[in-house]
Amino acid sequence: PASADAMESAVWEKVRDHPCYSEEAHHYFARMHVAVAPACNIQCNYCNRKYDCANESRPGVVSENVTPDQAVRKVIAVANQVPQLSVLGIAGPGDACYDWNKTKATFGRVAEVIPDLKLCLSTNGLALPDHVAELCDMNVDHVTITINMVDPQVGAKIHPWIFYKHRRYTGIEAARILHERQMLGLEMLTARGILAKINSVMIPGVNDEHLMEVNKWVKARGAFLHNIMPLISNPEHGTHYGLTGQRGPKAMELKALQDRLEGGARLMRHCRQCRADAVGLLGEDRGQEFTLDQISEDV
Ligand code: SF4
Ligand code: SF4
Repeated sequence: PASADAMESAVWEKVRDHPCYSEEAHHYFARMHVAVAPACNIQCNYCNRKYDCANESRPGVVSENVTPDQAVRKVIAVANQVPQLSVLGIAGPGDACYDWNKTKATFGRVAEVIPDLKLCLSTNGLALPDHVAELCDMNVDHVTITINMVDPQVGAKIHPWIFYKHRRYTGIEAARILHERQMLGLEMLTARGILAKINSVMIPGVNDEHLMEVNKWVKARGAFLHNIMPLISNPEHGTHYGLTGQRGPKAMELKALQDRLEGGARLMRHCRQCRADAVGLLGEDRGQEFTLDQISEDV
């Protein structure tokens, strides 16, 4: 787990107030997500579009989708009642870089009212290179990219299609483009000093062994954390798009992989896969106290 002695001081300076990255901070600082970005430009086989994006969130939950204006009202309401609020993230429910105008409008307006709030977002990476310069201008200091493969052969089993430059690509070609864009996006973030965390969804029999290779690639390109998330199969919430019957890893399998990856890019073990509308300290979710119908019109 991340701690002061395990991190370079420059990185530590940026993450010590961030509940997701610092083991210490997660007891004292709160984060919130606003679900302003419903559109997505790729298909993941583990995704069920009716629910939150699995890039960062626990699949099988439906977050309260809000417009940028509503999001700003929510952030102000939460900041007034949760003094520990230090981070605002956009984690879907689709892709924050693809649904860019809403992400940008939300961050821009929030920065005007609460300038010291740290901003972060999560993305599948396909549209990321197009927006790194603006992310830098907006002082976004953390980006999470979900990277499940560095080999298009593996990628084609996880991502059946992408929508890129006005057309749809499928199979190996789609996975190759996605892979190239993810690597480019990561390199651009590193070059600008924006911290990049990598999430990988561990899918037994599909990419579990391969994640060792992913870890090497992302570490070589400057990722400061690599978070292995278990595939969560949720049959009661409907089948996944293309992985019907696929099981998630057992807790022991997850831990064994994390242990093998120690020494690679630093691993994050306390990510809770929070909802796209989560509010509060890590491990608690006060989102239900701050739904739109509960915050007053005049905030
Ligand atoms: Fe679903 Fe994948 Fe798009 Fe997230 S990036 S919304 S998991 S298809
Ligand atoms: Fe932090 Fe993980 Fe929750 Fe995102 S999903 S707010 S990284 S703990």
